[in-house]
Amino acid sequence: HCTPQPSHSVHALAKPVAPTPLVSRLFQPSNLREGQEGGDMTCRSQRLMLQAGLIHPSNPGCFYYLPAALRSMEKLVRLIDEEMQAIGGQKVDMPALCGAELWKRSGRWELMGKEMFRLRDRHDIDYCLGPTHEEAVTELLASQSTLSYRQLPLLLYQVTRKFRDEQKPKFGLLRGREFYMKDMYSFDISEEAALHTYQSVCHAYGRLLDRLGLKWVQVQADTGNIGGTLSHEFHLPADVGEDRLLMCGNCGFSANFETVEPGQADCPQCHTAPLVESKGIEVGHTFYLGTKYSQVFNATFTSAQNKPAVAEMGCFGLGVTRILAASIEVLSSEDSIRWPRLLAPYQVCILPPKKGSKANEAMHLAEELVQSLGNSLLNLKGEVVLDDRTQLTIGKRLKDANRLGYPYVVVVGQKAMEEQPVFEVVCQQSGDTVFLSKDGLLDLL
Ligand code: ATP
Ligand code: MG
Ligand code: MG
Ligand code: MG
Repeated sequence: HCTPQPSHSVHALAKPVAPTPLVSRLFQPSNLREGQEGGDMTCRSQRLMLQAGLIHPSNPGCFYYLPAALRSMEKLVRLIDEEMQAIGGQKVDMPALCGAELWKRSGRWELMGKEMFRLRDRHDIDYCLGPTHEEAVTELLASQSTLSYRQLPLLLYQVTRKFRDEQKPKFGLLRGREFYMKDMYSFDISEEAALHTYQSVCHAYGRLLDRLGLKWVQVQADTGNIGGTLSHEFHLPADVGEDRLLMCGNCGFSANFETVEPGQADCPQCHTAPLVESKGIEVGHTFYLGTKYSQVFNATFTSAQNKPAVAEMGCFGLGVTRILAASIEVLSSEDSIRWPRLLAPYQVCILPPKKGSKANEAMHLAEELVQSLGNSLLNLKGEVVLDDRTQLTIGKRLKDANRLGYPYVVVVGQKAMEEQPVFEVVCQQSGDTVFLSKDGLLDLL
């Protein structure tokens, strides 16, 4: 029933056409400082991310996320949203500033020790900057007097900054003091239902890592200061990983070193093969909590028998910024970034030739190509950049593009200006170079 009102300033309101992203204009300052190249506090992904202008260092363990990194992170968050919502997750956003009182009730105000960032307000009330949110979310549930068993399972999750005063922040985004985590909390009517939810979240984690094209392992894990009785970690195998993993080649048993009795050389499950040790980067962690928090905070629901019952809980963390860095860590070479295809900040980079006699014509062709790729292929809208630094040779810019890891680089060279235009296409993932017509290019992308 809303008739649009005629506007007096149609022009002022016209939607601006998004300009083609030009490499010369992208804010991606290279940030590799003297002395940051080596040493045991840095790793490949940190070096590559500084070099490529993806991150800029701030305080120890804190980083500016620059535009390209943020594009990539937003893609990752969208994938996480898809997977969490596919299993019924509902997104919320809880305060990062958490009152000490909740943490004192659960007993973790003391237990968290020095890892917790603590502060005090003007009324002398203690707070912390949330390192995790079991207390907050359970309190939220406990405050609902009308929660019915019909509303369970309830899965609430958020993607927010977490704060931990890590003893040794290192390896860039792999171990920050301020980082992004996806944390989900589940509430169920019974242990059986909670374990069912637990499995469905583990499957969602596996699906996410598969979609990213990453090799991963799920291992039995320690419940640490979060507590509970059942726990798994999701790891990307890598030498810089700080966790020791033990695996049985015979029966598939796998566990974090912390959970296995010292000296235990043989597999505790099949007892026939030795455990093989490797290293992993912990990217996800799942916990079945039982009623550890719901008891304390009295988070109850009304059961089918119309009686109050304590909710069974699970909690599930994914390191968002850690996954970003870890995937660069495991996929890249020493000097060239390789992204999971779905996370590359831009999908295609187009290279017109160096300034010269036919430069205008080629630039025109390149611009046309950017537009038509974006128009013909929905998934490429805003995903194509033009490397307009035509004062540099194609070779130099190809090298840059290779280092930044655009999945596809298209050279608009001599052959593109012939009657039947042909483009040189470098597929970074496979390393192949192919020559394609425009239709061929559209098919490929
Ligand atoms: P770690 O063993 O590496 O210190 P954690 O076991 O303390 O991690 P959890 O409490 O299980 O971490 O948090 C869930 C997830 O958050 C982890 O699996 C990891 O992916 C991510 N994470 C934890 N600490 C950091 C950090 N300092 N920087 C970046 N991501 C982190
Ligand atoms: Mg930790
Ligand atoms: Mg851990
Ligand atoms: Mg953990």
